[in-house]
Parts: sequence; C-alpha cells; structure tokens
Amino acid sequence: MSRRITSRRAYEYLASLAEASDTEYVSLKKISERLKVKPSSAYEYLEKLVSLKYVEKIGRGKYKITAKGLEELGLRMWAHGVLETYFHKILNIEPDKACLIASRIDHIFPIEIIEKLCIILGHPSKCPHNHKIPHKGVFDKNDKTLMSCFLNNVDKRRSVGRK
Ligand SMILES: [Zn+2]
Ligand SMILES: [Zn+2]
Repeated sequence: MSRRITSRRAYEYLASLAEASDTEYVSLKKISERLKVKPSSAYEYLEKLVSLKYVEKIGRGKYKITAKGLEELGLRMWAHGVLETYFHKILNIEPDKACLIASRIDHIFPIEIIEKLCIILGHPSKCPHNHKIPHKGVFDKNDKTLMSCFLNNVDKRRSVGRK
C-alpha cells in the first residue's frame, strides 16, 4: 500500500470500523468476521491503516477509524452512491447490479468526475437502496447510519468479477 489508499479492500476496512459509534473501538475478531477474512490478514491490513493514520489502535487488537479515515471513506461512499445512481437512473440498471458495478470502480474513479456526475444527477441525497449519500464525502452528523450497500458485495464482487 502506498501513502494513499488505493485498494477497495482498505475502504472496506474503514467502512466496517465506521459502523461502530464515534467512541467505540472494534475488535480484530469482529472486523475479520464482518469482512470474512482471516484475523491474520485483517491484522496486516489494519496495521498498515494505522501507520497511514486512517485508523487508531488501542491496547490489543482494538481499532477505531480516525477523522482522516472518515474523510477518505466519505469521498468513496459518495463516489459509490453517485455511480450507483447514475447506473440506475440513467442506464436503467437495477439497484443491486448497479451497486455491484459501482463497487468495482468506486475506489479508483476520479473524484472530479464524481463531482460532475453529481451535478448532472441533481445532487442525489439517497442511493437506489435509499441509503443516505455523504455529499462531497461529508457524513450527516445527526444520522450515523452509513451507506451499508458499500459493503454489500464484499463476496459477490470477487466471484462475479472473474467471469
Ligand atoms: Zn453533488
Ligand atoms: Zn446503494
């Protein structure tokens, strides 16, 4: 991993941490269960994210997303929601498929283009699954429900992507 996040996997770690409350630290075990990976690989990933300051660690195996991590995740969730909306609204692709396709490219899609798409779509506030989109990456502070569809396809994407 470079100094910046480049893999979708890294964003999935951030998303699984962001599901917890602001103060809650999440255990390594819980994260590895959520993402269906071995604790050893979860550990490796999380340590990298700690060194990049996207994640904070206390004691043994307890992690929390940092403000920097949340900012980075917000932008990618925005990208996810905008792409999903575009595929669904403009290309008539059904929500789950739109979500799946979006989840293959949302982590690498240039944010400037997301910005343009967002304008074309009239700044959608909700994705086709009716989850709130963090506009320009900013989460609603009064509503901590995250765009859970961001993690919907953790398994699916891998198999379908190879066909
Ligand atoms: Zn917008
Ligand atoms: Zn969605």
